[in-house]
Amino acid sequence: MNTHAVNPWVALAYLIAGVLFILALRGLSSPSTSRMGNRFGMAGMLIAVVTTLVTHDIAGLGETLIAIGVGGGIGWLIARRIAMTDMPQLVAAFHSLVGLAAVLVGWAAFLNPSAFDLLVVGDIIQAGNLVGIGTTIAAASRIEMALGVAIGAITFSGSVIAFLKLAGKMSGAPILLPGRHVINLGIIVAIVVLTALFATGNVAQGEYFAALTVLAFIVGFLLIIPIGGADMPVVVSMLNSYSGWAAAAMGFTLHNTAMIITGALVGSSGAILSYIMCRAMNRSFISVIAGGFGADSSGASGDAVKTDRPWKRGSAEDAAFMLKQAENVIIIPGYGMAVAQAQHALREMGDMLKAEGVNVKYAIHPVAGRMPGHMNVLLAEANVPYDEVFELEDINSEFAQADVAFIIGANDVVNPAAKTDKGSPIYGMPVFDVGNAKTVMFIKRSMGGAGYAGVDNEVFYMDQTMMLLSDAKKMVEEIVKALD
Ligand code: NDP
Repeated sequence: MNTHAVNPWVALAYLIAGVLFILALRGLSSPSTSRMGNRFGMAGMLIAVVTTLVTHDIAGLGETLIAIGVGGGIGWLIARRIAMTDMPQLVAAFHSLVGLAAVLVGWAAFLNPSAFDLLVVGDIIQAGNLVGIGTTIAAASRIEMALGVAIGAITFSGSVIAFLKLAGKMSGAPILLPGRHVINLGIIVAIVVLTALFATGNVAQGEYFAALTVLAFIVGFLLIIPIGGADMPVVVSMLNSYSGWAAAAMGFTLHNTAMIITGALVGSSGAILSYIMCRAMNRSFISVIAGGFGADSSGASGDAVKTDRPWKRGSAEDAAFMLKQAENVIIIPGYGMAVAQAQHALREMGDMLKAEGVNVKYAIHPVAGRMPGHMNVLLAEANVPYDEVFELEDINSEFAQADVAFIIGANDVVNPAAKTDKGSPIYGMPVFDVGNAKTVMFIKRSMGGAGYAGVDNEVFYMDQTMMLLSDAKKMVEEIVKALD
C-alpha cells in the first residue's frame, strides 16, 4: 500500500524550505530587498535538495555529484555567457525543461510504478468478470500523473514556441489559424476525457496516457502561436506559472512535499504576475490564456515605419542646452537602453541635471524592455535612487507639466497608436502620454528601426519631437560631455 509516511524531521526541513521560498518571493517584490529575497530562495533550495538527497535512495553519492556537476556546470556557463537582453528567451527555454521533466517523470512513474510506490491492490476484471486480485496504479496517482504530463507537455511545446519567437528565430507576429478556439477547446475536452478514462479503467492503460500526452504537446503549440507583439511578456509569465503547476503535479507523483509547495508558489505567483501584467496591458486574462482570443488578424502586422514623412533631427549639444533650461524632465527608458547598456551614462546625466536644479524623474512601463522588471533592474544597477523611479499610472499625468520627455531606446511604450489605431497590434495597451510634454527627445539608432511590435510611431513626426539618432550610450555620453 502507498501510505507514504513522512519522517517528522523531513517534514520540518521541507516546511522551513517552504517558508524561505515565501520570504524569497516577499523580498523580490521590491528592488531594495530583492538581493535578500534571492538569498532566502537559495537557502530554501539548498535545504530542499539536501533533504531529498539524504532521505531518498535516489542514486549513489558519486552519481549524484556527477549529475550536479554536469547540470550546475551547464547552468554556470549559460549564465556567464547570456546577455541581459537575451534573458526572456533563456527563461522560456528553462521553462520548457521544467515541462519536459514533468512529462518524463510522469512516464517513468507509469512505466515503473513500484519504484514510485504507486501500486495498490485491486480487483482484476476481465470481460466484466472478476478474475482475481492484483496490483495496479492507484486512481488518484493516475490523475496526478495525467495532470503532470498534460501541464508539462503544454509548458514544453508552448515554451519552445515562446523561445523561438523571443529569440527572433520565428516571426513575433501572431499566427491566427481559422477556428483556432474550437480546435483548442476540442483538444482540451479530449485531454479531460482521456484523463478520466485513464484514471477510471481497471488497469492504467498506456494508450490513453500516450494519446493525452501527444494532444497536450499539440495544444501547447497551438495556444502560443497566435500570441505575438506586445502580449509576449504575459505569455512568458504565464508559462512560468504553468511550469510551477507542472512541478507541483510532479511533487504529488514523487510524494515530495517541498516540490508541491515550491510548484504551487511558482504556479500561483506566476498566475498573479500574469494577471497584473494583463491589467497593466489592458488585456483580458482569459483571452491571453485562451491563445490570442479576439486578436484581429488584419491589424496584426501593423504599419511599417514610413521614413518619407518630415521629422526633425537634433544633436547632443541641442539636447544638452534644452535639458539644462528645463524645470521638469521625465526619462523613459526602453529596450534600446538595455541593448546599449546606457544606464550608467544616463544616471550620470540625471545627476548633472539635478545639480543644475532640474527635477528629474524616471518613468517605467510594465512591459518596457524584454522581461518584467527589466528597466528597474538596470536603473538599480546604475544606482538610480528608487524614489526617482515611477510606475506608469503614477507618473502619466505629469507629462503635461514636463518640459522634456526624454525617450531612450523605448518605442512601443510611448506609441500613441495604442490609443488611436484599432488595427494596431498594441491597441488597448496603456502608453506614456509623451505628446503632452513641451519637448520630446527620442533616442534611437535609425528612423527605419521599429519597436518590438514592428509599427510606425507618430511621436517621431510631432512638432515638438527632436530625433537624436545614435546608439543610446554614445548619445547620452555626448550629452554629458556637452552639459559639462
Ligand atoms: P521597443 O522594443 O518597442 O523599442 C526599442 C527601441 O530601441 C527601438 O526603437 C530601437 O530602434 C531602439 N534601439 C535598439 N537598440 C538601440 C541602441 N543600441 N541604442 C539606441 N536605441 C536602440 O522597446 P520598449 O521597451 O518601448 O517596448 C517593449 C516591447 O517589447 C513591448 O512591445 C513589449 O510588449 C515587448 N516585450 C516585452 C517583454 C517584457 O517582459 N518587458 C517581453 C517580450 C516582449 P532602432 O533599432 O532604430 O535603434
